[in-house]
Amino acid sequence: MAKKEFKAESKRLLEMMINSIYTQREIFLRELISNASDAIDKIYYKALADESLVFNKEDYYIKVAADKASRTLTISDTGIGMTQEELENNLGIIANSGSFAFKKDNEAKDGHNIIGQFGVGFYSAFMVAEDVTVVSKALGSGQAFKWESQGADGYTIEPAEKDTVGTEITLKIKANTEEDNYDEFLEEYRLKSIIKKYSDFIRFPIKMEITSS
Ligand code: ADP
Ligand code: MG
Repeated sequence: MAKKEFKAESKRLLEMMINSIYTQREIFLRELISNASDAIDKIYYKALADESLVFNKEDYYIKVAADKASRTLTISDTGIGMTQEELENNLGIIANSGSFAFKKDNEAKDGHNIIGQFGVGFYSAFMVAEDVTVVSKALGSGQAFKWESQGADGYTIEPAEKDTVGTEITLKIKANTEEDNYDEFLEEYRLKSIIKKYSDFIRFPIKMEITSS
């Protein structure tokens, strides 16, 4: 599968995220949960306007699942999902996103204190992950697609299997280094406290699942 290149600005932001010496890496979870919540809002407003769609609040939730053995953290939602084109356009290019505003307004400043103050968006996942996989099935689409990237050198998109509408984002958490602990992002108490700190206001349930085998 041939890799597609990120647009130049996206690549620069990505490189910043990957090499971030930033101490508040934890905000990646706030960003992914906020995107998941936005996606559920979108399906909710569609359902309000479309009588053929029924919205059962219980069916809409965000799940945060950590697997210590495989070092993966998965954030999934039952939101509106993304088509192949949307995966390409929304994740391959930084357009009107918070990420772009961040980049534009703060280019000259030191990234250190800035990241926590703005929505830095989806790419913040690369602060903690060496590989990011997004499997998504859009509302009204029969086919799911998988977007995958190991960082600034590009991404791939291919057809995938997914039964239900929504998005599942899997982060392969980086290995610890002498300076940096990433293991903590697989720990239940740590994940819970990050969610409490930044995502307490989210109006959909956030379920948690931790496995170690
Ligand atoms: P922003 O949220 O500010 O638009 P992000 O970088 O966080 O910027 O996300 C970029 C875009 O990717 C979103 O606007 C949305 O269209 C899409 N996206 C990201 N995560 C999801 C998701 N879980 N479900 C559906 N679309 C998503
Ligand atoms: Mg966002």
